[in-house]
Amino acid sequence: MANPAPQTASANAEANQKAGKKTAAYDIIDHTYDVLVVGAGGSGLRATMGAAEAGFKTANISKVFPTRSHTVAAQGGIAASLGNNTPDHWSWHMYDTVKGADWLGDQDAIEYLAREAPAAVYELEHAGVPFSRNDDGTIYQRPFGGHMQNMGEGPEVQRTCAAADRTGHAMLHALYQQSLKYDADFFIEYFALDLIMEDGPDGKVCRGVIAKCLDDGTIHRFRAQAVVLATGGYGRCYYTATSAHTCTGDGGGMVLRAGLPLQDMEFVQFHPTGIYGAGVLITEGARGEGGYLTNSEGERFMERYAPSAKDLASRDVVSRSMALEMREGRGVGPEGDHIYLHLDHIDAKVLGQRLPGITESGKIFAGVDLTRQPLPVTPTVHYNMGGIPCNYHGEVVTLGKDGPDTVVPGLFAVGEAACVSVHGANRLGSNSLIDLVVFGRATGHRLKEILKPHVSQDELKSDSADLALSRLDHFRHADGGTPTAAIRADMQKTMQRHAAVFRDGKLMSEGVELLKGVNAQMADIKVHDRSMIWNSDLIETLELDNLIAQANVTMQSAENRKESRGAHAHEDFPERNDSEWMKHTVAWFDGWGGNAMGSGKGEVKIDYRPVHEYTLTDDIAYIEPKKRVY
Ligand SMILES: Cc1cc2nc3c(=O)[nH]c(=O)nc-3n(C[C@H](O)[C@H](O)[C@H](O)COP(=O)(O)OP(=O)(O)OC[C@H]3O[C@@H](n4cnc5c(N)ncnc54)[C@H](O)[C@@H]3O)c2cc1C
Repeated sequence: MANPAPQTASANAEANQKAGKKTAAYDIIDHTYDVLVVGAGGSGLRATMGAAEAGFKTANISKVFPTRSHTVAAQGGIAASLGNNTPDHWSWHMYDTVKGADWLGDQDAIEYLAREAPAAVYELEHAGVPFSRNDDGTIYQRPFGGHMQNMGEGPEVQRTCAAADRTGHAMLHALYQQSLKYDADFFIEYFALDLIMEDGPDGKVCRGVIAKCLDDGTIHRFRAQAVVLATGGYGRCYYTATSAHTCTGDGGGMVLRAGLPLQDMEFVQFHPTGIYGAGVLITEGARGEGGYLTNSEGERFMERYAPSAKDLASRDVVSRSMALEMREGRGVGPEGDHIYLHLDHIDAKVLGQRLPGITESGKIFAGVDLTRQPLPVTPTVHYNMGGIPCNYHGEVVTLGKDGPDTVVPGLFAVGEAACVSVHGANRLGSNSLIDLVVFGRATGHRLKEILKPHVSQDELKSDSADLALSRLDHFRHADGGTPTAAIRADMQKTMQRHAAVFRDGKLMSEGVELLKGVNAQMADIKVHDRSMIWNSDLIETLELDNLIAQANVTMQSAENRKESRGAHAHEDFPERNDSEWMKHTVAWFDGWGGNAMGSGKGEVKIDYRPVHEYTLTDDIAYIEPKKRVY
């Protein structure tokens, strides 16, 4: 059911005013659910479906209509070792994921992902995802970067299940329909402001979420036994990204404000083939179907950098090779600042069938007819390996009384917002979509194990909405001299330049300083529109607040890690250093200072969690680190 009626209205403005509360101006509408999922992308919908199916009274709130979530843009496909087009085995998928992650992934979680992947894909098939087919009726699978046969030995494997080049679109529609079938309530175009956290006997406990209805401006307090954050990535920290403008990492922002850490934020994936200028993605499936890259000399340079996997080496390797070619003067175009992707040798019929969407994107965004001309591309920010630390049940963890894996009661995270960590320092293509459904599903299982439907919940504390509403109120009335868009552009350009494909100590410490300047500008922010109804100025400001917190954490985590691993290519420390750096970064942010909550100094605190150097079962041994060559 979409946008159901609220259950009770309480804490009205008048009473608040009498109590002298700062948040007096806001009426609050109360709701109680067993499970509240924030976000309706692939991971949020799969978690919603699982919770509702398990009998929990479940609500989903999403700032965009579910089928407009960024998952809709996923083109290439979803990895699972079905073995339909080439031989395959879950242990090979696990090996490739561990290697792709440059050994920073937790191997218990990676084993879980690889083993559960086939069942999760068949479940999608039965839920109605119209996968492309082989002649014998099985699901069609294509090659993707870094996915190989025989524990990395090769040849390449066809593991990526696809619905042409619109796989995410097909998945979102099927999952939304399923969630509705199980009777979850959807609060669509509601913007989650902050978590409701309380101090429990052993640390913080999550009790719900405060949200604003974008449409009519009403404020809603959701009390729940469990909150699942499925808010996606924060690609919009950067100036050019393949991710949608909605990818502002709101879940990560809420977690930082709750005094909890984010993990491995220094690892930002650049996709090799964003369309030059526009940043629009051309799926790796294009190279999977035979596409290749050339430099200004017409050379297929990937043969030099990755003699065996060539254009299908993992993304960090291909992006760095492209950046090196450009740096050494072999980029294409008058500025030498891009590379060519060729698909013009592929039969136009095959392109039409397997890659119809990108053929269209090439025309629209680069004015190029892919069947005849090469497409100008450049490495573009695409995916956040880092996020909210959690275990393979989806439970959020932090450093606490049970050590580095202490569970935060009531709080879960799934999808790109989360860091399980299965992608470690670098994610393989088509491993995100499978992460969404495998861990969305796992979260449903866990909820069923630890919670009972329809039990009564304690009353919330009287100050439960204060953090969210004082922050909202602060920005709504912000009357400084710098518009949101100007501060955002400053942050994005700083990230683009100082936390890029290649980084060095000097660049990153300058980046840290420049972000301090950006933080300071937040105290002088100007929001023009004071209304509560469809106030995009205000919402973009709240999103910027979330982005800035994560930009700070990303830059400082990157500056702190003195090695190169996966997507983090530190030029002063070009080698991976397992003896010192085989550990997850966890980082806290104390706020940028001038906000309503006041006390922050823009400081990032860093600590570490050990990598899980063990597998889930005895079926497979721990995969020992070795040098990563493709
Ligand atoms: C162009 C592109 C192509 C890709 N192709 C592939 C591919 O082929 N294969 C692959 O494996 N991966 C691919 N990826 C990566 C993958 O698609 C994403 O990592 C994944 O879809 C993220 O899903 P999600 O469920 O975590 O979040 P999203 O799909 O990003 O959804 C986030 C949800 O959170 C909600 N939300 C956010 N903030 C708030 C808030 N404050 N209040 C309320 N709701 C909120 C939004 O409304 C939305 O519903 C691609 C990514 C991009 C950008």
